[in-house]
Amino acid sequence: MKIICIGRNYTEHIAELQNEKPSDPVIFIKPDSSILKNQHDFYIPEFSKDVHYEVEVLVKISKVGKHIDQKFAPKYYKEIGLGIDFTARDLQSKLKEKGLPWEKAKGFDDAAVVGKWIPKEKLGDINNLDFSLLKNGQTVQNANTSLMLWKVDELISYISTFFTLKTGDIIFTGTPAGVGKVNPDDVLEGYLSEEKMFSVNVK
Ligand code: ZN
Repeated sequence: MKIICIGRNYTEHIAELQNEKPSDPVIFIKPDSSILKNQHDFYIPEFSKDVHYEVEVLVKISKVGKHIDQKFAPKYYKEIGLGIDFTARDLQSKLKEKGLPWEKAKGFDDAAVVGKWIPKEKLGDINNLDFSLLKNGQTVQNANTSLMLWKVDELISYISTFFTLKTGDIIFTGTPAGVGKVNPDDVLEGYLSEEKMFSVNVK
């Protein structure tokens, strides 16, 4: 399986990183080896002094598809989740400066937290879902999927123009404002529509 991530999908997050608003979705891939195994602690890698959390709504692909029309996109996913796109921001900034790919900063081992999955029917309108991240009990990111520049179905259609989507692939739909650094002993908890989706201890 692969993990397809969307960058710059929330206006306020684009502003906080002083990025330009893209004319098309920004896409990058994390390898399957980047998934943090269930219940495991996250160890800050020694190659970074500035690892950031980015909470994101996830979509699990349930059927193979290519060139998916936006109106048929809902047929390609049954479950919605929540996760963290851990990012070695110091490394990413250096790579961005040089115009190089971000993979090392985004695709390293354990850089993808994937929480539990909820059937989409249970959630109602997926374009109107509240989600949040708490760090040590304090809310640090809090948003709603209605704030996405590109909505889930548009993303699926766009991504499938370039990459065949396969059963089990996961889409990270981008992070809202409020990203920040993690430190040893932090506890990160994610909520989607009031439901606790994951808890990660940082070491
Ligand atoms: Zn992200």
